[in-house]
Amino acid sequence: MTPWRRNRRSPAAERWLRQMVLGFSLACAALLTACGTPLSSSGAPLAATIVPASSSLPTPASASPPNIIEFVPGEAEPQLPATVVDYQGAQVTITSIERIVSLNGDITEIIFALGMGDYVVGVDSSATYPPERTKTLPNIGYQRRLSAEGVLALNPTLVIGDEAAGPPEALAQIRAAGVPLAITADPPTLEAPAQKIRFVAQALGIPQRGERLAAQVEAEIASARDLANRVTNPPHVLFLYLRGTDVQQVAGVRTPVDVMITAAGGLNAGAEAGIVEFKPLSPEVVIAAQPDVILVLTKGLESVGGVDGLLTIPGLADTPAGKQRRVIALDDLYLLGMGPRTGQALADLATAFYEIAPQEKRP
Ligand code: ZN
Repeated sequence: MTPWRRNRRSPAAERWLRQMVLGFSLACAALLTACGTPLSSSGAPLAATIVPASSSLPTPASASPPNIIEFVPGEAEPQLPATVVDYQGAQVTITSIERIVSLNGDITEIIFALGMGDYVVGVDSSATYPPERTKTLPNIGYQRRLSAEGVLALNPTLVIGDEAAGPPEALAQIRAAGVPLAITADPPTLEAPAQKIRFVAQALGIPQRGERLAAQVEAEIASARDLANRVTNPPHVLFLYLRGTDVQQVAGVRTPVDVMITAAGGLNAGAEAGIVEFKPLSPEVVIAAQPDVILVLTKGLESVGGVDGLLTIPGLADTPAGKQRRVIALDDLYLLGMGPRTGQALADLATAFYEIAPQEKRP
């Protein structure tokens, strides 16, 4: 036990340590195999892959779901009509939340975290959390390629989302149909989770509950940043966005994942290689980046056939990350959503980066 582990107090990190694959050695992978823990949807253990339970393993039945705000006795029920100012400065008045269509996965997650999931009648295909609820709701397609007809067919009394929702013509049609359309900003910053939570809670007429959830998420982000401060030798982290062999991109600066990597105490190897936003992966980029760890989305890793498939990408096997098979795979809404679980995702990354750093003294 390191002093850091003994003194650690973050509940998110505690939960993670209990349930997560720790470390990167083969011994660790063997241990998990022995425990019979299914680490991927195919049931095959993803050797040396960090797959935090909070995103892909079932939570023990006894544990309450993270970040769900309960009604406090005496607290006001939803107060309507409610008015919000959208990301373009327009006032939107909401008179009923009986039928909510949510346009983005992060916004859907926030509605559920606020305890208002029962009012949701439609979600987009990026809505994957909470999984058991979002799976069964009518789906309006992907957030950036919505059709107004699909949304309006659900007879919403409120359509709510963030600026990733589109196209603009579809949003204009929804507005023209007279349905309240509440769209919030969604900048790739660590302030975004609390901002979006407050916006959604205001629109739903439950500002106090929003305040409590926002404060809780802010506290989790702050404690994850404390964990990150203990990463004294920041690992070089290469984020790859993968959809099989067709789409393979590297994240540079001005991306949400850059914010996450940096805040968790890592160095974004894509940014260090001079990449702005996303660029196609090439052997030159891999050689320039020399990552200590590769960060991917769970679905992306599956799309290339797990860690073995990933390491067949030219150049990757020869990097420090490839030689040690150091791969972190996280669910995409969890890692990139800037939502109620962002503090937990940050804590996962900071803990992983800390685990890597002491083993290698970097020049
Ligand atoms: Zn969003």
